[in-house]
Amino acid sequence: MQKLRLLLVSLLAITGLFFSLCLSAQSNKNKMRVLIVDGQNNHGNWPQTTQLMKGYLEETGLFSVDIATTPGSKKNMDGFKPVFSDYRVVLLNYNGDAWPAETQSAFESFVKNGGGVLSVHAADNSFPEWLEYNKMIGLGGWGNRSEKDGPYVYYDQDGKLVRDDSPGRGGSHGAFHPFKVVTRNKKHPITKGLPLEWMHSGDELYDRLRGPAENMTVLATAYSAKDKGGTGRNEPMMMVIRYGKGRVFHTTLGHGNDSQRCIGFITYLQRAAEWAATGKVKQKVPAGFPGPDQVSLRPE
Ligand code: ZN
Repeated sequence: MQKLRLLLVSLLAITGLFFSLCLSAQSNKNKMRVLIVDGQNNHGNWPQTTQLMKGYLEETGLFSVDIATTPGSKKNMDGFKPVFSDYRVVLLNYNGDAWPAETQSAFESFVKNGGGVLSVHAADNSFPEWLEYNKMIGLGGWGNRSEKDGPYVYYDQDGKLVRDDSPGRGGSHGAFHPFKVVTRNKKHPITKGLPLEWMHSGDELYDRLRGPAENMTVLATAYSAKDKGGTGRNEPMMMVIRYGKGRVFHTTLGHGNDSQRCIGFITYLQRAAEWAATGKVKQKVPAGFPGPDQVSLRPE
C-alpha cells in the first residue's frame, strides 16, 4: 500500500513537471525573439548592461531574449555568424571589431526584409566604415567620423531641426550628469502618452553626432549645456530610422548601469522593442516614470 502511494505520488509529480515544461515551452513559443549582440565594447560594464536589458525586455512578457557574444578580438571573428533571421529584433550592445563580410550582409538583409534593430549608446560608435550600418543608425560618433560621413543634426533654440554640413568632428560628450529629455515627436507609437519632459539619471550626453540621417525621425532631444562641457544645442537622444522594410530605434543613452536603471530609459527600451518588432506599442506607461525635475531609478 505504502509503495503504491509512493508510485502514485511520483507519477503525479512527473505528470505535473511534464505539463509545466510544456506550458513554458508554449508560452515562449508565443513570445517574440530578440537577439542581443555584445562581446566587445569600450564600456567594460557590457556584460552587466546586457543582463539588465535582457531582463527589461523579458519582464514585458512579450519577448524571449538570446545573447550572441562575439569573440574578444578580430583574429577569431571569422566564425561569428548568428542567424539574425531567427529573430524579430536585434539589440546592439556592441562597439568593436568589424564582423565578417558575410555576417554584415546577413544583417543588412535581415533589416531590409523587416527586422527590427535597437542601437544602444556606444553601438553608434561602431563600424564607422560600414555605410549600410550608418544608414541604419542614422547618426554615429567617434571612429574619425566627420563631415565626410554626413551632417551634424541638432535642434536649434526655436525647435527647428538643423542639418549642419559644415566641417567638424562627429561625436563628443561633456561631463556625466543628469539631464532633461524633451520629446520632439509625441505622435510616434513609442512616445505617445509618455510625459513630454523627464529627467534622465546621470549619463553621458552625446553631441555632434554625424551620419547619413536619411529616413530618420528624432523622437527626443536633450540640451547639451556649455557649462557641462557641451555644445549649447539640443542633441538627439532618441531616433527612429526606416531602413528598407525594417524599423530601427537608436538611443544615445545608457552609458553606466545606473544610467540604465532610469525608468525613462527602461520604458523607452521596452516600447521601442515592441515597435521595432510590430510597428505598434500596446504597453502602458509605468508608475514611477520620471517627472520633469526628478530622476526615477529602479532599485538595484
Ligand atoms: Zn559611454
